[in-house]
Amino acid sequence: MKQINTYIDSLFTKQDDLLKEVLESIKENGMRNISVSPSTGKLLTMLVSISGAKKVLEIGALGGYSGICLARGFGSEGTLTSLELEENYAKLANTNLSKGGFSDQVTYLTGPAIQSLEKLVAEEKRFDFFFIDADKGNYENYLEYCIQLAESGALIAIDNVLAGGTVADPDAQPKRHTEFMKQFNQTVANHPQLESVLVPIGDGLTLSRVK
Ligand code: SAM
Repeated sequence: MKQINTYIDSLFTKQDDLLKEVLESIKENGMRNISVSPSTGKLLTMLVSISGAKKVLEIGALGGYSGICLARGFGSEGTLTSLELEENYAKLANTNLSKGGFSDQVTYLTGPAIQSLEKLVAEEKRFDFFFIDADKGNYENYLEYCIQLAESGALIAIDNVLAGGTVADPDAQPKRHTEFMKQFNQTVANHPQLESVLVPIGDGLTLSRVK
């Protein structure tokens, strides 16, 4: 998986000064770099752009790497609402999004994402693109909230669904993370309100269209 991703990244992603700065800022702040892969980021930009989405919701901001990729897809016309547990991560992501020229278009809601999602549901907010990339144990909950908040035809992108390839490896050591993901992938694949496919890019990105 690593070899294939290195090959794809080297062919299809170019040196990007802003994203490089984001990764440096993550390192400088002593945070672990668990941002999306360069090609996953590029795919997110293309998906937002192709779908014409203008109201994007992200769950899991870290340093703003995926946030910038999503915002690049909607350019000057869209908005990004990003949910992040850690106040200092959201602050860093906000600084990085500002460097990209998106300061007026992004809102960070800090604290446990479930609480923020409850609030958005209560406010009857609607979104046309979602990116789920936070604590894996809550993925099923996040998915249901996203469906509730979705406009018809909205796209939900979900990262890390291959769990490093372990979901498809019969010899993999049994791990909680793998089991969560296997269960989650079953749920998505059979969900009556979704039409989905799993793209094996980065650590696996599922794309679900809300019917
Ligand atoms: N999407 C980011 C990117 O590619 O640039 C990476 C996100 S990182 C994989 C996961 C993020 O989810 C971390 O920043 C973490 O603090 C956040 N997170 C973890 N649990 C959370 C929760 N319960 N609510 C909101 N955010 C959470």
